[in-house]
Amino acid sequence: LIPDPTNENATILLMGLRRSGKSSICKVVFHKLQPLDTLYLESTSKPTTENFRSLINLSVIELPGQLNFFEPTYDHEKLFKSIGALVYIIDSQDEYLNALTNLSMIISYIYKVNPKINVEVLIHKIDGLSEDFRLDTQRDIMQRVGDELLDLGLEGLQVSFYLTSIFDHSIYEAFSRIIQKLIYELPALENLLDLLVQYNKFEKLFLFDVNSKIYVATDSSPVDIQTYEACAEFIDVTIDLDGLYGDVKDSDESKGNPTKCISRLQNGSVLYLHQMIRGLALVGLVRLDNTDQFSMEFKNALSLIDFNVNVFKKSLEDMWKNSRL
Ligand code: GDP
Repeated sequence: LIPDPTNENATILLMGLRRSGKSSICKVVFHKLQPLDTLYLESTSKPTTENFRSLINLSVIELPGQLNFFEPTYDHEKLFKSIGALVYIIDSQDEYLNALTNLSMIISYIYKVNPKINVEVLIHKIDGLSEDFRLDTQRDIMQRVGDELLDLGLEGLQVSFYLTSIFDHSIYEAFSRIIQKLIYELPALENLLDLLVQYNKFEKLFLFDVNSKIYVATDSSPVDIQTYEACAEFIDVTIDLDGLYGDVKDSDESKGNPTKCISRLQNGSVLYLHQMIRGLALVGLVRLDNTDQFSMEFKNALSLIDFNVNVFKKSLEDMWKNSRL
C-alpha cells in the first residue's frame, strides 16, 4: 500500500496564503482541536509536518503562505518531487484573486518537477457563505483556474475542487477523497467492501482511520453525510467506552481480542464497529430484520457478520503484508 515504491510515505503538501486555514485544518483533523478554538491559533510561520500511519504512511506538510518560494535554504525541488498531492487552501470568505495567482505560480513550478501530482483545491470556510453564493464562488474559482491552466499550457493537469469548512464534516470528506487517490489497492478494497455489503445487508460500510476519522475506503454506494456522521460519531462513543483509541495507537496488530461494538438505532438499523489493523476500524450501518437483540436470530445474524468481517480483516492483513514486500 505504498504509493511510491521509492518512498515509504505518501506525502500531502498543504499550501495556501496566510490565514487561509492551514493550521486550523491540521489541528482539527489530526489533533481533535475544537473548531472554535482555532480562532486563537498562531499563524503558521515555519513548515510543519504531521505524520500519521493509516493504511499507508502519510505525512502532511504545512507550508506557510509567506514562505519565499525560491528561497535557497529550503529544498523545494526535492520536496515537490516526493509528494503525492498538493492541497491548496483558498479562503472563500476573503478576496481570493491573490490566492489564485499564488496557486497558478505553484502549479506551474510543481508541474515541471512532478507532473504526476494530484492538485486538490479546497474552497475553504464556506460556512460563512450562503448556499447560492457557495456555488457561484466554486464556479468562479474553477473557471479562473481553468483559464489560468490554459494560459500555462497545462490543460491536461487534473485539478479537483472541494467545498470545505472545519465546522462540519466536509473537511473530513475532502481529506478522505484526497487520501483515497493515493492508495493503490483502493479498487481491490472497494470490491471487498462491496462483497461485505452484499452478503450482510449493510446499508453502508466505511474503513476508517480511527484517529483522524478520515475514511480510507468505502463501498461503492454513494456517501450520505448523515450516515457518515453517525458512523464517525460511533467511533467516539466506542473510544470512550473501550479505550479503543489507546489500543490502536500503541499496537501494530491488535493484541488479544479486537474491539467490537454494536448499537441499535431507533429506526431499527444497527451501527457496527470492528477494529482492524493499523489503527483502522470497519464501521457500518446494517439492517437486521429481527428487532429483539437478545433473540437467537439476531445473534446468529451478528455471528455471520463477524465471521465475514474477520475474513475481510485477514484479506487486509495479506494486502498489507504483500504491499510491503
Ligand atoms: P493559516 O495561517 O493558513 O495556518 O491559517 P489559520 O489556521 O491560522 O486560520 C486563520 C483563521 O481562519 C483562524 O481564525 C481560524 O479560526 C479561521 N478558520 C479556519 N478554518 C475555518 C473555517 O472552516 N471556517 C471559518 N469560518 N473560519 C475558519
